[in-house]
Amino acid sequence: MLGTTLAEMEQTMRDPRHDILFEPLRIGPVTAKNRFYQVPHCNGGGYRDPSAAAEMRGVKAQGGWGVIFTEQCEIHHTSEITPFIELRLWEDKDIPMLAKMAGRMKEYGALAGIQLAYSGINGPNLYSKEVPRAVSAMPIRTFTHDPVQARALDREDIRDLRRWFVTAAKRAQHAGFDLICLYGAHGFGIFQHFLSRATNQRADAYGGSLENRSRFAREVIADMREAVGDTMGITLRVSLDESIGDLGFSNAELREYIEMNHDLPDLWDLAQGTWEDCSGPSRFKEEGAQEALVRGIRALTDKPVVGVGRFTSPDVMARMIHSGTLDAIGCARPSIADPFLPNKIEEGRSEDIRECIGCNICITGDMTMSISRCTQNPTFMEEWRKGWHPERMNAKGDSATVLVVGAGPAGLEATRALALRGYDVALAEAGRVLGGRVARERLLPGLSAWGRVADYRIHQIRQRPNVETYFDSKLDAQSILDFGFENVCIATGARWRRDGVSRQHVVPFAMDATMPIYTPDDIMEGRRPAGTVVIYDDDHYYMGGVLAELLRQDGHEVILVTPSAYLSDWTLNTLEQRAIHRRLAGLGVQIVLNRGVVGIKAGHVVTNCIYTDGLTEIGCDAVVIVAARREVNGLYHDLTARRVEWADAGIRSVRIIGDAEAPGPIAWATYAGHRYARDLDAADIGDALPFRREITGLAAS
Ligand code: ADP
Ligand code: SF4
Repeated sequence: MLGTTLAEMEQTMRDPRHDILFEPLRIGPVTAKNRFYQVPHCNGGGYRDPSAAAEMRGVKAQGGWGVIFTEQCEIHHTSEITPFIELRLWEDKDIPMLAKMAGRMKEYGALAGIQLAYSGINGPNLYSKEVPRAVSAMPIRTFTHDPVQARALDREDIRDLRRWFVTAAKRAQHAGFDLICLYGAHGFGIFQHFLSRATNQRADAYGGSLENRSRFAREVIADMREAVGDTMGITLRVSLDESIGDLGFSNAELREYIEMNHDLPDLWDLAQGTWEDCSGPSRFKEEGAQEALVRGIRALTDKPVVGVGRFTSPDVMARMIHSGTLDAIGCARPSIADPFLPNKIEEGRSEDIRECIGCNICITGDMTMSISRCTQNPTFMEEWRKGWHPERMNAKGDSATVLVVGAGPAGLEATRALALRGYDVALAEAGRVLGGRVARERLLPGLSAWGRVADYRIHQIRQRPNVETYFDSKLDAQSILDFGFENVCIATGARWRRDGVSRQHVVPFAMDATMPIYTPDDIMEGRRPAGTVVIYDDDHYYMGGVLAELLRQDGHEVILVTPSAYLSDWTLNTLEQRAIHRRLAGLGVQIVLNRGVVGIKAGHVVTNCIYTDGLTEIGCDAVVIVAARREVNGLYHDLTARRVEWADAGIRSVRIIGDAEAPGPIAWATYAGHRYARDLDAADIGDALPFRREITGLAAS
C-alpha cells in the first residue's frame, strides 16, 4: 500500500519554524508537554456554574494546550470579591467542584493549574461580612468604590494567612492540580500588595526595603514547598509594571526583585499593571505589546518565564521563544477565541486559527456577573450548557438546503456552521462585500482587528464545496418564494436611527430641517459633515467615541454630548473606558457628560442637565446622532405575510436572526448565527429550558 502523499504531508505537517513551541517545559517537579500556556482567566461562571467552567477548560485540553489554569480561586472567606463570580476554596466542600475541573484539564495530557488568590485591599467581603484584611489599612480598591476600609494584617494575621495558603495548596493537591499560581498581579493579589510601596506602607519586617516587601512571598513559597512542593510546581504571577507613578512597583524594581529572588518560584508568570493594562483591547494595544517590558528578564532568573500579549500569530510566538524573551506563550483571550489554537499550529493549519479580535466582550461576562461570551467563538461557556463544541457541529437534520440572506457576522457564522453540519447553503448578499457591519466598522480608528470576524468565516466558507455565495443579490420575498430553498435564514442586519430614539427619547424629538444630521452609517459610508460637530451619544458603547476620534482626526471641532456620567459608558465592562476618555481628551474632543439633547435648532443644539433639567445651547454646524438601531426586517415580514405560499414553494422554515431580529453587539450576532445553525431541524423542546444549569444543592436542614 502506498504511504502519505506530498499533498497530505503538506496539509498535516507543522511548519518547522514552529517546532520550538512543541518542546516540553519543566516547571519544578512537573513537565508541560508544550509551550502553550493558558494563563488564568475569568469566565463569569466560576462557583455558580462549575460544570460549565470545567467543560470549557476540558475543551482547551482537547485543543492541545500544555498548561491550563483556573480563574482566580479565593483561598479564604476573609477575602472575597462579591459580586464578581470566581472560584472558592474556602473549605473541603469546595474540593469536588475543583477536582472535576482538574480532571477535565488533564484528560489530554495538559498540566492542571489553580490560581490561588487572597484579595486583601481588593476584597470588600460583601458576602462573608468579615472585616477585610490588607497589607496596610486603607480603603478597599474595587471597580465599585465600596465604602469599606481594610485593617492592616498584624503578625498573627500574617501567620494565619501563611497557614491558609498551605491549607489551600493541600486542598488543591487533593483536587488533582499540578501547578499553583500565586496571584500577585493586576493590583489584585496580596503578593503584589506586599511588593508595592503604594499598598505596603508597613514599618515592620514586611515593609520598607524591597527585601522586606519580598518576605511574605518567600515565606509562603517556602511553606508550600514543604507541604506540596515535591508534586506541584509553584508559580508566581506578578505585574511587569504597576504603572501608577513613583510609589508603584515599577519595571525596574520588578527586575531587581527577580534578580534578588531568582529561584523563588518554579516559574515567573509576568502579567502587566492593572487588568486594564494587561487585557488591553486591540483598539489600544497591539499583539505582543508588553515585549519591551519583558525583554531581558529571563537572563535574571534560572526559572522559566511566561508572558502574555494577545498572541495569535505562531510566528510571533516562536520568535518570543527563539529570541529568549519567553519560555512559554501565555494566552487567555486567544485561547478563548480558539481553544484549538495549539492543535491547529501542530497540524500546519495556522490559517484556520480563529484569531481573537481584542474586543474584550469575554471580560464583560465577568464584569456583569452573567456568563461570558466571545465574539469569535460563540461556543465559549456553552460547551456544557448546550453541548456545543468549537470545532464540531451536530449531525445534519432532515432537510438539505438553506438560503442565508445577508453576509454580516450573523449570516456568515450561520453559513459556516451550517456548511460544517452538511447542509447545502446559498449565501445571498445585497452588496459586493462580505462582513456586513464588520466590513464597515473595521475601517474605523483602532478597529481593524475586528475584521477578523469576517476574515475567519470567509476563509472557512471558501473551503466548503457546499456553499455558494452570491453578491449583488438584494432579495425580496417573491424571489425567495421562487427559489425554493427549504429553509430561509434572514440576517439582514440593522441601520442606525436618524430620529434620535434610543434611551433618553422613546419617541422622535424636534429637529430643525436646516441642521445637517448624520448617523454612524452615513459617516461609515463616507459622508462627512462640515465645521463644528456635536455627537449626541445615547448608545453608550464604542460607536460615539470612535466617531469622535475619526472626526477629530479629520480636523473637526468635536463636542460629544452624552446623558451618561461616563464617555462610552458600557466600555467600563470591556476595560477600555479610561483609555477612550484619555484618547479623546488628548485629541481635544470636548466631552460633555450628564447632559442630553432635547432640541436640534438652526445653528445649535439644546442640551438638558439630566439632574436639574437646566437647558444650555451648544453652537454647531452639524449633528451626529448615535442613538438606537432599527432592524432591517421588511423582507422577513413580507415573507411571513405570505406564509400560506410557503408549502407550495417548498419552504419549511423562515427565521430572522442577529441585528435584524434585535440589534446588539457583534458577539450577539455570531452567537445568533451559530445557534440558528445548531438548532435547524431540531426537535421542538416546547417550554423546556434551552440550556443546562446547575443549582445550589439544598441543605438537608
Ligand atoms: P448582523 O450583525 O446581524 O450580521 P449586518 O448589518 O452586519 O447584520 O449585516 C447584514 C447584511 O445583510 C449586510 O451586509 C446587508 O448588505 C445584507 N442585506 C440586507 N438586506 C438584504 C437583502 N434583502 N438581501 C440580501 N442581503 C441583504
Ligand atoms: Fe478575543 Fe473578543 Fe473573544 Fe475576548 S470576546 S476572546 S477579546 S474575540
